[in-house]
Amino acid sequence: MTPKANHLSIMKKQTKAIRTQTQQTQYREHSTPLFLTSSFTFESAEQGKDLFEETIEGNIYSRFSNPNVTEFVDKVCMLEGAEEGIATATGMAAVFASMAGLLKSGDHIVACRALFGSAHQIITQILAKWGITHTYLDATATEAEWEAAIQANGERPAARMVYLETPSNPGLELVDLAMLGRLKAKYGFILNVDNCFATPILQTPLDFGADLSVHSATKYMDGQGRVLGGIVVGPKELIAPIRFFARHTGPSLSPFNAWTLSKSLETLELRMERHCSNALALAQALDQHPDVATVKYPFLPSHPQYELAKAQMNAGGAIVTIELEGGFERVQAFMEALEIPTLSSNLGDSRTIVTNPNTTTHAKLKPDEKAALGITPGLIRISVGLEHIDDLIADFEQAVAVSADVVRERV
Ligand SMILES: *Cc1c(COP(=O)(O)O)cnc(C)c1O
Repeated sequence: MTPKANHLSIMKKQTKAIRTQTQQTQYREHSTPLFLTSSFTFESAEQGKDLFEETIEGNIYSRFSNPNVTEFVDKVCMLEGAEEGIATATGMAAVFASMAGLLKSGDHIVACRALFGSAHQIITQILAKWGITHTYLDATATEAEWEAAIQANGERPAARMVYLETPSNPGLELVDLAMLGRLKAKYGFILNVDNCFATPILQTPLDFGADLSVHSATKYMDGQGRVLGGIVVGPKELIAPIRFFARHTGPSLSPFNAWTLSKSLETLELRMERHCSNALALAQALDQHPDVATVKYPFLPSHPQYELAKAQMNAGGAIVTIELEGGFERVQAFMEALEIPTLSSNLGDSRTIVTNPNTTTHAKLKPDEKAALGITPGLIRISVGLEHIDDLIADFEQAVAVSADVVRERV
């Protein structure tokens, strides 16, 4: 089933994502079975002792490890070029474990301002209770600004961790990973990157000097909006304390979700290719439309960080944002006119999804916070799916035109 180890090691990632598989059982199954078991048996008292002493490796209890979870972790480590990893029940559990496992009271985090909402709550509300302080910076801050935030000053210690998302949600701003890799080499903080939007197919942060790559596997890794999951990968010495934290606090990924996610990784590259070609074509078409005020997509030459996007990503990703003039009335008319996309706050699905961040995912932010993140009333986030591109372009073009007419008639 799994090619001989010496051959697998030189094969391409796409082949490995398909051929990395849990060892076949005596039943000669082709597809990895689902190991729905809470515990594993010991062949002898001595084996139980050795497993607990960690002098031999093996499964003990599914809170610690399970074959389905291990298969998923092995594949993501392979895709990210990481030594080890730990899978969790959700993306947020992965984000939290990556912080709680490595930080202690008195530590300082420097983070990008544009973060997934719950990551922002962990940093400002939860870690703050344990005396872990933070500084926020804009994604596009200069190297000198990042350096100043990372260094100790009279008020705070030097950063113990730098945490960021690139591209950001929903602003699609990029953080220069190579620049932060250089700063890390100089100051020795832990560089922790939420790589959920790019996936390891488009961007491998560890190649730029990042220590950890964390994911909400709920998004593109599943890719079909079915299960929740998360993962953090990195070097052995950083994963060990995160594993200790997870093993004893219990945010484990279920075997069923791991099985689903591992199967999905077989098609991740294929899906990302289509997600990205659809997103680019849709962005280009809407960019030509007279009734769309602005279009933002990392691989459009009009993106302010187009060169950086080309340098650190293989393709532009599957999120496109557009700006429609005419306030919420226009947004409503546009969403009503769309026939194919679903209205949902999720993203990373085979089905195209549209969201108005101002009234949903980012509604609770204060006006100045919205302004800093570029969240305007007419901003539409499009999570471009895998439908035929001709149908998507036709549907978006008609909805843009119809909604523009609705607003014009009312003036
Ligand atoms: C969805 C998301 C998360 C949280 O993941 P869950 O699986 O919902 O817990 C974290 N970061 C980013 C960038 C996300 O999009």
